[in-house]
Formats: sequence, C-alpha cells, structure tokens
Amino acid sequence: MSTPLTNLLQVNQLSKHFEVPVAGGWIQRSASLRAVDGISFNLNEGRTLGLVGESGCGKTTAARLVLGLMKPTAGSIVFEGQEISAMRNAQWRSTRQRMQMVYQNPLGALDRRLKVIDQVTEPLKIHHIEDGRTQTEKAQSLLGELGLSSTHWHRYPHELSGGQRQRVVLARAMILSPKLLVCDEPVSALDVSIQAQVINLLQEIQEKYGVASLFISHDLKVVRQVSHNVAVMYLGKIVEQAPPEILFKSPQHPYSQALISAIPSVSHRKNQGRILLQGDPPSPLFLKPGCAFATRCPLAMPVCSVKEPLLTQINNEHFAACHLVTKDAAC
Ligand code: SF4
Repeated sequence: MSTPLTNLLQVNQLSKHFEVPVAGGWIQRSASLRAVDGISFNLNEGRTLGLVGESGCGKTTAARLVLGLMKPTAGSIVFEGQEISAMRNAQWRSTRQRMQMVYQNPLGALDRRLKVIDQVTEPLKIHHIEDGRTQTEKAQSLLGELGLSSTHWHRYPHELSGGQRQRVVLARAMILSPKLLVCDEPVSALDVSIQAQVINLLQEIQEKYGVASLFISHDLKVVRQVSHNVAVMYLGKIVEQAPPEILFKSPQHPYSQALISAIPSVSHRKNQGRILLQGDPPSPLFLKPGCAFATRCPLAMPVCSVKEPLLTQINNEHFAACHLVTKDAAC
C-alpha cells in the first residue's frame, strides 16, 4: 500500500492587485491591476506543480507571494500547516529557510565576487548553521552530487558555463535542506542540450531529498516532463488544472488547447493542427465582464462576454473554467 502524501503548501483564493495611475485628463485616476486574482492550489511533499501561461499571466507574482517577497491583497498561504501571514519574525525566518528559489538567470542570481565554494557555503554562514569546516565539506559534497568537481570549486561565476552556473544556483538553494523549491523559468536561459541535463538533475535531487517544487515555465514540454500536476494561468487566474497525463491528452479549456497545440512536434501532421490565437491578451487594467479569454477564444459564445466561468471540477483531478465545460451556453 502506498504511503499517503503529506500536504506541504496550501494556497487559498490568493490575490495580488496593484493600484496603477492611469491617464485621464486633469483628474488623477487609478485602476486596479489584478496580477493574481483568486488562485488556489495544493502541493504535497516531494511533488511538483507546474505553473504555465504566457508572460504577464501572473505566475511569477504567484511565486513571489508564496516566498513572502510581497504581501497578498487577499487570500492565504499555508506552509507546513501554518498560515505564513500569522508568523512572527523568528518563525518566518526559520520557515523561509525551507523555501528556496531557483532563478532564471544564474549569473544574476550569483555574487560575481564570490568563488563557487563560497557561494554555496554563504547561506549556512548567514544562518549560523554548522562550523566552517563542516560547511565546506557539506558544500563540496553537494557540488560533487551536482556534477561540479574540485576543479570548479574555486572558480568565479564568469569562469563557468551557463549549465555549471545553474548547478551552483541549485547547490546554493539545496544547502539549507529546503522542503520547497520555487523554480522560476530555471532552464529557459540555457541551451536545449544543457536544459535536459539540468532538468534531470533537478528531478534526481527532488527524488533523493523529497523536496517539492513549484515549477514556473512558459515551456509546456519541460513542464510536462517534470510536473505531477499542472495549472494553466491566464490573466491572473487558473483556467485549467490537471495531472499532465490528463491535461496534455485532453485539455478542456480553449486556451490550454491552443497552448498545447503550439508545442513543436517532429510530426508534420501534428504541427499542422496548431490553433492560432488571434490578437493579444486584453489589458489587465481594463478587463470587461465575463470570461477574460473571450476576446481571443475561437469558441466564444454570447454568454462568455456576460458571465465569468468558474473553475469547475470535471473529474477527480481535472478542473477547468469555461462555459463549454459547465455546458452553460444560455445566459
Ligand atoms: Fe472561450 Fe467562453 Fe470558454 Fe471563455 S468561457 S474559454 S470565451 S468558450
């Protein structure tokens, strides 16, 4: 019998709105930009949730909210059973050690003045964990596991390749034994051949240390490979969520269908089936009532511009926010 999975992270109705000044004659006006608008998801220990969508859909803001890098406008984030907004400073500092970020641009994430070994021991020094010798031994062992031998330990970031730098970023994140890695486009700055190596490493690490991951990417192929569950975001909302084997085989939301149809394939026939979306996403500052995707949706119906579709359970683990799913064609 398999062991039941333990819930690590629970996000409930999380929102982040920004008040933005807008041009409007002599009177100063502002509008609310809904970067993240009422999203909910759960992440179990050792599992990966992929967050996908076009740039500007709110996935990076969602990650920053989870990491406490910005305060939500509404909603709750529960980590290891504790609401993070209710934590006092000392408790939050200790919790934050168990949530680490893997950035898109490894060169920007590393301190150019520090050698590899010092980059990796630095978090241990900051948190006063272990003595100097143990810190170095721990860092060397982790770097070795990540494929960086002693010839790399005393180099500076600019002396490494992109893939090697991302391994250092991973080692720096893992040295504090986190329970959650938030990976923001972790391989998009790398060559395709190196991407595969870093993804494999990430998966090995997750398996070995049981660390969960919130994996943000616009690359659906990568998300499909690494995720146990995938949430598709559009203009601040989750519009579909399902395990990858279900989502990629049978997407229900027209936006997910378009994204999945655009995944390049070696099959000419499959490439021909691509759904081309017309137009750009509407401004998140001036959203009209109804479905936010209605202006680009090839299947839009009259009800779509009047009534907002809610995320609805299709079956056990599959959810979508579309009137076609709820058969709600009449207004
Ligand atoms: Fe398209 Fe309507 Fe579904 Fe929105 S609710 S995705 S506009 S069919």
